[in-house]
Amino acid sequence: MTRTNPSIAIVGAGMGGLVAAAALHRAGINVTVYEQAARFARVGSGIQMGPNAVKVLRGLGLEQHIRSFAFQPPSWRSRVWDTGEEKFNFLLGETAEAKYGAPYLQLHRGDLHEALVSLVPPQVIQLNRRLTGFDPDADGVTLHFEDGGQTRADALIGADGTHSRVRELLLGPDRPQLSGRVAYRAVYPSARLNGYPIDDHTKWWGVDRHIVIYFTNNRQDEVYLVTSVPEPEWVMESWSAKGDLGELRRAYEGFHEQVQRILAACSDVHKWAIVERQPLDRWTHGRVTLLGDACHPMTPYMAQGAAMAMEDAVVLARCLDGAGPEALSERLALYESVRHERTSSAQLTSHENKWMGSSTDADWVYSYDAWQVPLEPQPSAARASGRHEGSYPLV
Ligand SMILES: Cc1cc2nc3c(=O)[nH]c(=O)nc-3n(C[C@H](O)[C@H](O)[C@H](O)COP(=O)(O)OP(=O)(O)OC[C@H]3O[C@@H](n4cnc5c(N)ncnc54)[C@H](O)[C@@H]3O)c2cc1C
Repeated sequence: MTRTNPSIAIVGAGMGGLVAAAALHRAGINVTVYEQAARFARVGSGIQMGPNAVKVLRGLGLEQHIRSFAFQPPSWRSRVWDTGEEKFNFLLGETAEAKYGAPYLQLHRGDLHEALVSLVPPQVIQLNRRLTGFDPDADGVTLHFEDGGQTRADALIGADGTHSRVRELLLGPDRPQLSGRVAYRAVYPSARLNGYPIDDHTKWWGVDRHIVIYFTNNRQDEVYLVTSVPEPEWVMESWSAKGDLGELRRAYEGFHEQVQRILAACSDVHKWAIVERQPLDRWTHGRVTLLGDACHPMTPYMAQGAAMAMEDAVVLARCLDGAGPEALSERLALYESVRHERTSSAQLTSHENKWMGSSTDADWVYSYDAWQVPLEPQPSAARASGRHEGSYPLV
């Protein structure tokens, strides 16, 4: 008898893996997520969800919940680092919501992650399961874990981030490119500013560095800052690595008073080496594929990395919906084909670091609806040329 409901193993319970699990679970597909962490920590960071990402959340039934506490900024403002002169002001708020069919929201990353975890029954996510290897064969994949355990699935999805083990085993070892820059980040109560008024959402553009500052909830009682500043000697990517506040403040000496006040009120800062990759030619082989940062990590300059991972997850789940085990390879290849050009373009655009610095066409990013996009193979210029070329950003 032919089995109709395949089993899907996802490695990694980040934003991409969780959305994939939720979308597959909703489609009635037998899915299990294997996550290396022993528990979910509340990472101190904000996250921006463009209208394209909010459409993903809407399809999972999470939009109203997220809207109830997230901040909807009236605009994405770009200002000159010292004078504060406005370079560009991209209208968000109701204007963007009407144009793109969903709002632009900002929230605490921990709140988003928690909401995504709530979408699947607890038994779908296995913590403390670090994947070390896998063996594909004609009928599926055997997964091996650090704890000595192994399991079988009909297909494997590597949603295991920038240093993906699945990617390494699938495509061979290589390292992401260090940008030579670091993202300092901090989240703290707005009360620490003692009533000093700040912008809702501004990117302050310096000569060789920038800083983005915004509120993470609709009470506007929490501020988030994230930088990109040259520091080639720092190579650690870790949500928990601490940075030095003195170094951070020195790096932004001479910036506008508002930036100085926000940095002065900060009591604790984290630090992350910004990495990226050139677009891959392909990321699916047989019954194994990748999604999110595992296949297309990008600099955070468009605030679209998680959004792209979430879109991947929805398209992947739609491609697998109704597929029997024998159709999995073909459906996974279709998923990659639908997603390749878009994610490659986002990688390149992010790399350039010009997004919203001057008049920007954001329609191609924000109009996209992963639940509606046709599931048809797409030609990809990035794949045809092998890779995108581009110079490294100055700021
Ligand atoms: C400073 C900064 C700001 C950003 N801001 C935004 C923003 O505003 N908006 C936006 O859309 N994006 C933003 N991004 C990008 C976004 O954070 C990433 O693109 C997104 O987290 C990628 O999600 P993912 O699920 O692909 O991978 P990850 O979130 O990295 O998740 C991977 C998961 O896999 C697990 N894992 C890894 N290896 C194994 C293994 N061997 N076995 C089992 N589990 C494993 C990890 O523990 C982790 O839980 C930002 C990034 C940075 C650095």
